[in-house]
Amino acid sequence: MPDTDFTRRSLLAAGALAPLALGATRALGQQAHGTPLAGEFALPDPPGQKMRWAIVGLGNFAVGEAIPGFIDSQHARMTAFVSGSPAKQKDLGARFGVSRFYDYMNFDSIANDPEIDCVYIILPVGLHAEYTIRALKAGKHVLTEKPMASTSAECEAMIAAARAAKRQLGVAYRIHFEPTNVRAKQLIDSGEIGDIRFVSADHGFNADPNYPPHKWRLEKALAGGGSMFDIGIYGLNTSLMMLGQDPVALSANYIYPKDDPRFREVEGGIEYRLRMANGVSVAGSSSYSWSPYISQQRYMGSKGSIFMKPATTYDRNTITVEGNGPNHEVGAANPLTQFQRQLDAFSLAARANTPHKTPGEMGLRDIRLIEAMYKSADNGGEVVKL
Ligand code: NAD
Repeated sequence: MPDTDFTRRSLLAAGALAPLALGATRALGQQAHGTPLAGEFALPDPPGQKMRWAIVGLGNFAVGEAIPGFIDSQHARMTAFVSGSPAKQKDLGARFGVSRFYDYMNFDSIANDPEIDCVYIILPVGLHAEYTIRALKAGKHVLTEKPMASTSAECEAMIAAARAAKRQLGVAYRIHFEPTNVRAKQLIDSGEIGDIRFVSADHGFNADPNYPPHKWRLEKALAGGGSMFDIGIYGLNTSLMMLGQDPVALSANYIYPKDDPRFREVEGGIEYRLRMANGVSVAGSSSYSWSPYISQQRYMGSKGSIFMKPATTYDRNTITVEGNGPNHEVGAANPLTQFQRQLDAFSLAARANTPHKTPGEMGLRDIRLIEAMYKSADNGGEVVKL
């Protein structure tokens, strides 16, 4: 007797094939049931249900980069502007179809506005904590620009406010969504350059005290700190993103010209070294007295290296892979999509009320590291254990 006959007869006897015998099409022993979605899908929002955003502060970065990011956003749309300038609100409102306007005095009344889910803080750094906490108390999710706040104590208060409000708090570290840097991280993680041994990160520009967006960056009360807070933080945060680990010790020295009147309140430049538990180090620098604008990162590995210059700009970042074969450039999607991708990611996190990819805790970590750099520099470059 062939095995197949035996098997079929046995199964029939057990009733397992009865449905087939009745002409049903269901697969043997199978029944339809639900499963969780596997993989990442950009599901469209139900019509008219994109997350609704209020923008706080209509300055250079808001108008030039952040607001245009909403144009192609899948999950975010703007519904409100918060500004001290009615003229700017009216002009931008007409261009972007936004008609709900608040100022800094009546800001707390956003609590009664059901057309606002998320608030994006794009004010000078010294105001991030106050407006973040007010927005969280109003029941809104908050994405705040980098650096998170002026001090680690402010960051801690912001995180506590988010927990109390049961709302999400994110820091706008756009590089985590910038396609060229995302590609570089994929290359590093896939072993393209072997084991990373050393990273260098240099970021700076020449601050003009007569240009309003630079003027407040030179005032401690509004800026929190100097070049490291504003521009050096890109090197710090991006290096740690690529390495996927935090330092165990660091040291730093100020490198600004001490007699430069621009730097009475905040440091003009700093060079630092982060030490990882596995022996890798990051050597970084930042400055407010360099020309031209510098943004470069180099990841040196056991098989090759990745050089990025520019590394963290809005629209021109490049990857050159050196070694491990002939030097070559690696392309990625348009860097300008970083703004839209960040808004979409935060909107989805807020909708699900789950942590954003770059949460408040990451912003706090970075401010603590910069405070440790200042401590080291104030003490002649001593090593600070973390
Ligand atoms: P900006 O000076 O152009 O804009 C600041 C806005 O805040 C202005 O509209 C101003 O009117 C308003 N404001 C309210 N109260 C103020 C006060 N007391 N003093 C000064 N301005 C006040 O500055 P910006 O370059 O647009 O920077 C705004 C924020 O965006 C900062 O947190 C900065 O770090 C961040 N930023 C981020 C990026 C990035 O790539 N992610 C780039 C640039 C700036």
